[in-house]
Amino acid sequence: MKIIETVHLTKNYGQTLALKNVNLLVEEGEIYGLVGPIGAGKSTLIKLLLNFIFPNIGHATIFELNCAKNSAKIKKKVGYVPSDVHYSPDVTAGELLKTTLAFHRIQSEASMLSLYEALEIESTRPWVELSISDQKKIGIACAMVHEPRLLILDDPGKGLDPAAKRQVFELLREANQKGTSIFLASNSLTEIQDYCTRVALLKEGRVIRIEDLTKVRKKVKIVELWGEAFDFRDLEILGGRMLNVTEKSVKFSYEGDVEKLLKTLSMMTLKDVTIKNASLEDEFLDYYEGGHGSDTLEIGI
Ligand code: ADP
Repeated sequence: MKIIETVHLTKNYGQTLALKNVNLLVEEGEIYGLVGPIGAGKSTLIKLLLNFIFPNIGHATIFELNCAKNSAKIKKKVGYVPSDVHYSPDVTAGELLKTTLAFHRIQSEASMLSLYEALEIESTRPWVELSISDQKKIGIACAMVHEPRLLILDDPGKGLDPAAKRQVFELLREANQKGTSIFLASNSLTEIQDYCTRVALLKEGRVIRIEDLTKVRKKVKIVELWGEAFDFRDLEILGGRMLNVTEKSVKFSYEGDVEKLLKTLSMMTLKDVTIKNASLEDEFLDYYEGGHGSDTLEIGI
């Protein structure tokens, strides 16, 4: 079943184009990551899904219901965590979670107690005395306490200390294994890639690449050479894609036969060489900095 779908979703704030023709599909059971730098349009997309703002063109659905027309019905089964979580200074985690349970008309406190345990939440201290990391964990607990069918998190890692980040992502994985679909936005691919089934890369309001992380990816090498003079044509003929070229160094990505690469390198006069497997972050950076900017590429789906 389609959990989230966006169709030609486009949003302008006056002259600012925040989202342009975004088509995404999140299937039930996924942990789907939306990755992009600050200003790419991630929060705008989330706000459109939650019907906080309205699109100029296109539409979005959650559980195959139109987000603008069925917002109240949808929100009963959705948990949402904004990037910054704020509550009134005196409120405690216990009060917040109990109010959230009451709001959803849930009698049992079992889910609340297991969240206290999993996230090591202090239930009685007032909000104002808590660290930013603890406040964020409570925001996440409030969004999860009614065991939603879909959890939407805007920058879940923001504000969390490293130990809390691990706790939260493990908790998200567990919730996903129990049936909660997850859609999260982040500006750090490294932070989320181990947890996601798919990631979409957003750049200046456009989706420029979607990667299926459940499939084995083609090995891409990142090669860096140092020397006095290089003949790029040999490297380009070989299939290398230049990433960075200076007078005395060359960095390129390479997807071809490794033996051919080594043969070509052995014929060059080099001072130093490094060859490493590209991380997903390297490949995505290549998309930001390289020549793919205006293409939408879907890989392995
Ligand atoms: P992200 O969440 O990826 O950091 P946003 O969705 O917040 O990106 O912003 C996308 C673009 O829209 C940016 O250029 C931002 O400055 C602009 N923007 C966001 N909200 C508003 C607003 N309320 N009014 C005007 N411009 C906005």
